[in-house]
Formats: sequence, structure tokens, C-alpha cells
Amino acid sequence: TLFNELGLAEPILRAVAAEGYTNPTPIQEQVIPTMLAGRDLLGTAQTGTGKTASFVLPVLDKLSRTMVPAAPRTCHALIVVPTRELAQQVADSVRNYGRFVNMSSAVVIGGARPGPQVKALSRGVDFVIATPGRLLDHMQTGAIRLDQTDVVVLDEADQMLDLGFMPAIRKILAKMPRERQTVLLSATMPPAIRKLAGDFLRQPAEISV
Ligand code: AMP
Repeated sequence: TLFNELGLAEPILRAVAAEGYTNPTPIQEQVIPTMLAGRDLLGTAQTGTGKTASFVLPVLDKLSRTMVPAAPRTCHALIVVPTRELAQQVADSVRNYGRFVNMSSAVVIGGARPGPQVKALSRGVDFVIATPGRLLDHMQTGAIRLDQTDVVVLDEADQMLDLGFMPAIRKILAKMPRERQTVLLSATMPPAIRKLAGDFLRQPAEISV
């Protein structure tokens, strides 16, 4: 399979080509068409497999098709990850693969002062990459609203469980529109993650790579 056979929009393919990728990795071959079809997804996936691009590219694709000029930038897409470092990495990928898409992104993580994040959010962002605790803080102060967020990816869900983020994750998901696409990726599938999927995903495609 070639990247340009997966159905991704032209600005996304241009960024992928600039990166020098010609063929999708196995996880990308499975995740990209499933997400482009709008389906929920429950995936058992390890890092180092091209996992990040597998979910970032379809989310950017969706933004590239639905963004209209001058539309309010109201967190249309959200990626939640367990650690600050991973959030920064994912955000770098979003900026890199999204450079030909007219969208703005922001990183929302603990440790950093909240002020600059609040300022960035108040200017309006389309795509937020966050760790659960700080995201929840910003939701509680009203700095960010998720009522227009129609695609969410939870990456490394088992790590988030281990770090005690399950209550935060459930609160975050509960604030999103019912009509949304939910993607849950995890290296392992303990019962608490299966339960989370059962509670918040709708007839998910299941993949394992
Ligand atoms: P990840 O599993 O997301 O941490 O990605 C692992 C590495 O694979 C990253 O350095 C990516 O830049 C690289 N990568 C992702 N997709 C591809 C691809 N289709 N072809 C070649 N390299 C890739």
C-alpha cells in the first residue's frame, strides 16, 4: 500500500511526502482508513510502530475538510496523553504533519505556568494536545470548552490508568458531545481500559498491531 491510496487529503499527503514517507506502517494501514471512515477505534498498539502519525494524520484530515475560513477556533480535536514529554512530541508531530493545513494547535500540560496556556486558548485553537490533569483544570476555570470537540484520541491509556488519571479521563469524555469520534489506544488491555471503552466508545473497530 502507498500513502496516497489511503484516502488522505492533499495537504496531508504533501506533508507526509515532505517527511520522506512513501509507505504506511502496518498500524497506519489499519488505523488511517478506519478513522477516515469516522469509526470509533479500540487499538492495542506499541510505540515505535508509527503510531503517532496513524492517529494524527486522520485527525488533521478531518480538520482540513471541515475547517471553513473564519470559523471559530473552538477545540475541534483533542489528543490526551499521559505525560508532558509525550504531549510535546505529539504536538511537534501535529505541527509538522499539519503545516499545510490552516489550523492552530496548543499544548496543555502541567508543570508550565497556566497563564500563557490560557492566553493561547483565549485566542482560539482548533487542535489541543493535553495531559489530563491540566486539561481538567482549564475546563473547570472555563478557559477551555469541549462542547465542539468531535474527535478525541486517548493515547497510552494504560499509562494514564497507572498514573491515576482514570477519573479525570471520564470527566473529560463526559463533557464532550455525544456525536463524536473516539479513539482509544493502549499497549495493554487491562479490564479498566476495556470498561472505559465499553462506557465511551460506540461499536469500535478493534485492531491489534
Ligand atoms: P511512533 O511509533 O509514532 O513513535 O513513530 C516512530 C518513528 O517512525 C518516528 O520517528 C516517525 O517519524 C517514524 N515514522 C512514522 N511513520 C512512518 C512511515 N510511514 N515511514 C517511515 N517512518 C515513519
